[in-house]
Amino acid sequence: MIKIFFLSLIILFSNISIAGELLNIIFLGTGTPRPNINKLGPSILLNYNNEEILLDVGRGTTIRLNQIGNDFSKINNIYISHLHYDHIVGLGDLWLTSNLWQKKNDTNVYGPEGIKKFCNGLLKSYDEDIGYRYKDGNYSKLKCKNFAESTEEKSSLHVKPFRNSHGYVDKSYGFIINYNNKKIVYSADTTYSENLINNYTNCDILIHEIISVSKNIYDNNRKIQEVVASHTSISQLIDILKIAKPKLTILNHALLFGVSESDVLKTIFNEYQGDVIFAKDFMSVDLGEEINIFTIEH
Ligand SMILES: [Zn+2]
Ligand SMILES: [Zn+2]
Repeated sequence: MIKIFFLSLIILFSNISIAGELLNIIFLGTGTPRPNINKLGPSILLNYNNEEILLDVGRGTTIRLNQIGNDFSKINNIYISHLHYDHIVGLGDLWLTSNLWQKKNDTNVYGPEGIKKFCNGLLKSYDEDIGYRYKDGNYSKLKCKNFAESTEEKSSLHVKPFRNSHGYVDKSYGFIINYNNKKIVYSADTTYSENLINNYTNCDILIHEIISVSKNIYDNNRKIQEVVASHTSISQLIDILKIAKPKLTILNHALLFGVSESDVLKTIFNEYQGDVIFAKDFMSVDLGEEINIFTIEH
């Protein structure tokens, strides 16, 4: 059963996991590369058993974490879907600010091939600042690892990357999160592929991207036509949902040009009767026996 609460809720992080039964998902940023104060860059915080994981670190992640009262201290594992900048531009800010907040543990960053090069560049870029502030070398380190070489971390949340299909980005992944017989899938940026369906089956919550462009804009903009080819259209999404049948679908990273969210939902519901909603920044989803959705007061 899915309950959506329109009342705001202040979440106290120490009380989030009730006897480890609930997984809490907080949408910190639901946007795209387009700057939008109400939809910051893609980033999702998972909290289970007092353990916190981030999926992607887009623009403004640190600000959103601060707004919901998170002090960064428990975010020790970050998963990056691909190296398009909108999914990773917030990493430097989060890492450096965590250090100002005296984070004790190092932070593991798991990503596709290229993640280490990215992290090395980041370390080099902030070398001067780190040198000024932490002369003793005592600060929380970024430990970046390719998915292929990352060893299984001791964790009650199992995060498994799978290849998606994101146009020219050949190293692009979605994630499957398993715990207690529950399954959440994060598509990240992708267009339709058979491999998606295989990974989406039997999932409780599917967090999926979407693109929709009005005919007029599409016909007159070659760049947008290229973008469309590497994302999921409404008809592709409907095909996916009809086969995968997730209990709840949350549309995220929505690239809408000349089309509204309600237009998209109307088209989907013409052909698919399951539960589908749009993600919003500060949306908080508890997954246990039921799925409950709140908005975090900020
Ligand atoms: Zn993106
Ligand atoms: Zn992308």
